[in-house]
Amino acid sequence: MMQVLKFGGTSVGSVENMNHVRTIINDGDKKIVVLSAMSGTTNSLVSIAAKVKNNHTEAAQSEIKSLNEKYVEVVNDLLSERSLNAKVADYVSERFNFLLACTNKSYTLPLENEILAQGELLSTYMFNAYLQQEGINSQLLPALDFMKIDAVKEPDLKYIRERLNGVLENTPEADIYITQGFICLDDHGAVSNLQRGGSDYTATIVGAVIKADEVQIWTDIDGMHNNDPRFVEGTQPISDLSFDEAAELAYFGAKILHPQTVLPVRADGIPVRLKNTMNPSALGTLISSDHVENGIKAIAAKDNITAIKIKSGRMLQAHGFLRKVFEIFEVYETPIDMITTSEVAVSLTIDDDKNLDKIVSELESIAIIEVDKNQSIVCLVGHSIVNHEDTFKLFQILKDVKIRMISYGGSRNNISLLIDAEDKIGTLQKLNEYLFELVTL
Ligand code: ADP
Ligand code: ASP
Ligand code: MG
Repeated sequence: MMQVLKFGGTSVGSVENMNHVRTIINDGDKKIVVLSAMSGTTNSLVSIAAKVKNNHTEAAQSEIKSLNEKYVEVVNDLLSERSLNAKVADYVSERFNFLLACTNKSYTLPLENEILAQGELLSTYMFNAYLQQEGINSQLLPALDFMKIDAVKEPDLKYIRERLNGVLENTPEADIYITQGFICLDDHGAVSNLQRGGSDYTATIVGAVIKADEVQIWTDIDGMHNNDPRFVEGTQPISDLSFDEAAELAYFGAKILHPQTVLPVRADGIPVRLKNTMNPSALGTLISSDHVENGIKAIAAKDNITAIKIKSGRMLQAHGFLRKVFEIFEVYETPIDMITTSEVAVSLTIDDDKNLDKIVSELESIAIIEVDKNQSIVCLVGHSIVNHEDTFKLFQILKDVKIRMISYGGSRNNISLLIDAEDKIGTLQKLNEYLFELVTL
């Protein structure tokens, strides 16, 4: 069966890197290639949409024009073949005219989603033409013809399977099929997306529906590291992770993977391999059903967490109290990440604070509420860490860290700490030294 390979923003972010991608995918095996937007583009589109929303029409237009200039340059560097160059230049100007037209429309969420979709439409169109110029038999598969989420924003796998098979049947035979990551339709058929970083998720969804042998996620680093390389020096790549470990790390902030990435492929055990486009010979990380060893394997952190303390006179003996609390979060579709309880209070954390005010005002009718913003969750992950001897060192390593909440034993593979955001980097570094660089206490 076919493989699915996904290339992220940096991998398609320059002509030089697109050239690396071409070399990697052109090995004679039939495959589906999922591409992100060029790096920086989605951020720009987010900022353009915000300007449209705030009626800063001229500022939006000038940002669109400077983004357009960048694309004109890329097209000219990438495509020397005249007719392909002209065809792609036309497409690029059509997309940028569309963006300019958006600045004169009144803001709606569907309009914003249309704006955000342009990055992947541009990168895939350009890259497909580039492959054709290089004599590679490739075809575009428009993601909006098959990718769809349902009313609760979950991928509609049955629809996606049927539609993708139909699209593949109606597309001329090719060695390489190129499609857009991130973008999809919603349950009303409007353009939507799988949230930031969603191209990883597209890849595993496609991998699951075609029952791929393997899904490869090609990025700008040599696999999942044991700590966040953006904040800690000396982090190391991990060669193997189980689906459970990878799911915890992705959910708790390891930016290399979209939080939901492993979910579509876990049930069928389709392995996910993380590889570095700029260094293809590096081993990378293999995520599979096997687990290799026990003990703390990696640390990740998630920012912008809000802690809510809910204090009631007699929490635990009051039957139905927790149910009432959870119902309020359910009504506002707000997932809870961490939870701790005592006789008099329950503390929990949320990541999405869109409906915080409404949630707090409803909670206030049943309890006394305290809210702490600017918290971070630091999450330690590894198979069976809850029973591992090293884990007991944690209390010593962390003796000077102000811990607001701790979650131990929720699963055997995860220990989470809630701390002030300002203590995050120091805590990550300290954990790295004592757990992975084997500094003795
Ligand atoms: P892409 O555009 O290819 O999707 P991302 O920027 O989304 O790439 O993800 C790769 C980046 O994730 C790395 O450059 C790195 O800075 C960051 N990152 C955060 N945590 C980790 C981790 N534990 N291991 C590897 N990379 C991580
Ligand atoms: N282009 C989208 C983003 O920047 C999706 C992705 O890169 O995965 O979030
Ligand atoms: Mg990403």
